[in-house]
Amino acid sequence: MRVVQFRSLRKIILVFSLLLVIFELQAAEPGWGMAIHGGAGTISQENLTPEKERAYREKLTQALTAGYNILKEGGSSMDAVQAAIIIMEDSPLFNAGKGAAFNHHGVNEMDASIMDGKSRNSGAVAGVRLIKNPIKLARLVMDKSPHVMMAGEGAEVFAAQNNVATAAAEYFHTEKRWNALQKVLRHERLEPRMDHKFGTVGAVALDQKGNLAAGTSTGGMTNKRFGRIGDSPLIGAGTYANNITCAVSATGHGEYFIRSVVAYDISALMEYKGMSLHEASNFVINKKLKKFGGSGGVIAIDKHGNVAMPFNTAGMYRGSVRKDGEIVVDIYNK
Ligand code: ASP
Repeated sequence: MRVVQFRSLRKIILVFSLLLVIFELQAAEPGWGMAIHGGAGTISQENLTPEKERAYREKLTQALTAGYNILKEGGSSMDAVQAAIIIMEDSPLFNAGKGAAFNHHGVNEMDASIMDGKSRNSGAVAGVRLIKNPIKLARLVMDKSPHVMMAGEGAEVFAAQNNVATAAAEYFHTEKRWNALQKVLRHERLEPRMDHKFGTVGAVALDQKGNLAAGTSTGGMTNKRFGRIGDSPLIGAGTYANNITCAVSATGHGEYFIRSVVAYDISALMEYKGMSLHEASNFVINKKLKKFGGSGGVIAIDKHGNVAMPFNTAGMYRGSVRKDGEIVVDIYNK
């Protein structure tokens, strides 16, 4: 009799512990999803008209929807990241692809990179002038060459060999970015100055198979000089993905992000110090980088699907979507 009672008690305890484990697992894992950004900087409600704000929100939602649909169908995080970035590159609202910032000589020179968290393969292009979607070329460098990064003329030759769509210089030209350059040039005196309104685009995603990916695309900083390359095409600085930790895409004053190796630093703090995604990304953006004088932010997603989007500027165009399809888009610092 006593033995029977003991056995059923054991069973109850076992079932109860199992339920507890399942419950905890569910609570710990928001599951697959993605996050995007459209740049950070001096973005405030005063200098954004309601129409402009609506346009940004709509475009961010469109980009998230494109990525979400891929993930929902069981597609890869790499494809979702690329799809979301292409939509933002094609929009003149953001400083990437069409609408890229002008360098000191009035030319658009663009940088992009993408990284697969599973294999840690990555591809990047720097200083390309006529590539319609630099993120596509970055992906091709990864998929179709033994290299990680190609720059300038060589990258354009590689693009031509792989039938990548190009566009005439006028395609990238927007009045807004042209005027931004003229304004900076007018105010430039002894010190070369760069415009500190950032506009890079980026995406990070976790797919249903548990694979992470990150990508970033930019026109760089207005009034940049002499073949200047920012953090966006640099793996570890502007972009990083590793299945054992997280995926990160950055936007901000590139020189500081390069010297702080921002994206990798977040992953390393998680890997070596056991920090959570929120702790690591907040520490790097709001403590280390800020103290160093660097402004900007990141979007990041971890292997469980937790999302963090810290920034130390007035605003950052950003958004995320979870597996239930709920899209959240935000701009200002609340
Ligand atoms: N990080 C980019 C760069 O320095 C600029 C940006 O994020 O807008 O090139």
